[in-house]
Amino acid sequence: MTDLRSLPSVDRLLQTSLAVEMIAQYGRPLTVDAIRGELELARARFSQGESLPDEGELLRRIQQQLENWTTPTLFPVINATGVILHTNLGRAPLSRAAIQAVQEAALGYSNLEFDVAKGQRGSRLIHAEALLRRLTGAEAALVVNNNAAAVLLTLTALARRKSVVIARSQLVEIGGGFRVPDVMKQSGAKLIEVGATNRVHLADYEQALEEPSVALVLRAHRSNFRIIGFTSEPTLAEMATVAHRAGLPLVDDLGSGTLLDTARYGMAHEPTLQESLAAGADLVCFSGDKLLGGPQAGIIVGKADLVAKLRKHPLARAIRADKLCLAALTATLLHYLKDEAEREIPIWRMISTPIETIRARAESWREAIGFGEVVASQSTVGGGSLPGETLPTFVLSLAVPHPTRFMARLRVARPPVIACLENDRILLDPRTVAVEDERMVIESLKREFRE
Ligand SMILES: *Cc1c(COP(=O)(O)O)cnc(C)c1O
Repeated sequence: MTDLRSLPSVDRLLQTSLAVEMIAQYGRPLTVDAIRGELELARARFSQGESLPDEGELLRRIQQQLENWTTPTLFPVINATGVILHTNLGRAPLSRAAIQAVQEAALGYSNLEFDVAKGQRGSRLIHAEALLRRLTGAEAALVVNNNAAAVLLTLTALARRKSVVIARSQLVEIGGGFRVPDVMKQSGAKLIEVGATNRVHLADYEQALEEPSVALVLRAHRSNFRIIGFTSEPTLAEMATVAHRAGLPLVDDLGSGTLLDTARYGMAHEPTLQESLAAGADLVCFSGDKLLGGPQAGIIVGKADLVAKLRKHPLARAIRADKLCLAALTATLLHYLKDEAEREIPIWRMISTPIETIRARAESWREAIGFGEVVASQSTVGGGSLPGETLPTFVLSLAVPHPTRFMARLRVARPPVIACLENDRILLDPRTVAVEDERMVIESLKREFRE
């Protein structure tokens, strides 16, 4: 076509049966927008010397534009990396019961802040608190949006315009821009660093606590790195004794905060919540979606009077947990209470899967696609817990001519499969792939091999 007048009008396009279908699917205003946009584009390209598209081609482009506009940018992916708590891939997947609880809370109304027995306003905080108290032995608990917020609230409510004592080796940076010194600044608390990078002694704390502006002692877990060699650090119990002697609280930012003992699964021992509290920490902050295996949340457990102060602070309102989070968290905590965490919570199921089961799954993938080899490898926990710790695993290893390109094609498939590249081999770890998703991984691989 060589004449702009031959380009169909908006009205003419709207009357085509394809456009009628588009309106049914995407609504009229968006469809009209897409039509106008594509017509404009065609005119602009025509003025640059391109030829005009025919009606069929125009409609195809309009359809494509509508799809682009309405496809969600957040979608499920299959994690075949073997990194169990992959922050970029959304950390902990939820248990069936947690998903069910979210669905029920989302579908209609709930007693989120309503006391049904008394027929009056209640508190959203009660929903997880009793469970957290029972599981950890703490006097009180508070749930907020994430652990970064939990630490910020704690420091703001307890140490604003005062000082916080922390070991130099604990001024950690977790992924995603969480830095203890920056959070401290934001809270309005002044930082008093003690010790050397590798060593801190009880006497360093004792000396710092003589400063009258000190409001609390903070311990931050080195979640994502280790220091080794000539190092030393007082135990949490020793720190608690010194803090309490000065009449000050000890706050422990545990980061991952596990209820189960990771050493039972052949890994290093990640400090548990129960141990922190037993050692004398007055408040313990941790994430809901790390080793707890629940939704994104920041959880604070500890002394009732301190938790009460945090609750009353205006910041608590700004960072409160929503009903979907509370529903998922409560369901997750119930798994621990019923001693079924290992079976029901996906990350613990992954951690505790026997190596022979993983080898058998990798073998079955290899047989199904008729390619590759099954080799011993390592899964990692990730997500700011157990740095350097790995779990022995078996992976399907694929040697293909263009591995980077192959990986890219796996990533853009639907659903995307995320694998690892090591020494030019593509590695797929069954540990982090749900059994229900196996078929899709195999289909995806087969498709790539056919092409
Ligand atoms: C992960 C982590 C945080 C941040 O927790 P989020 O839930 O990601 O906000 C804070 N402190 C420590 C020690 C951590 O490991």
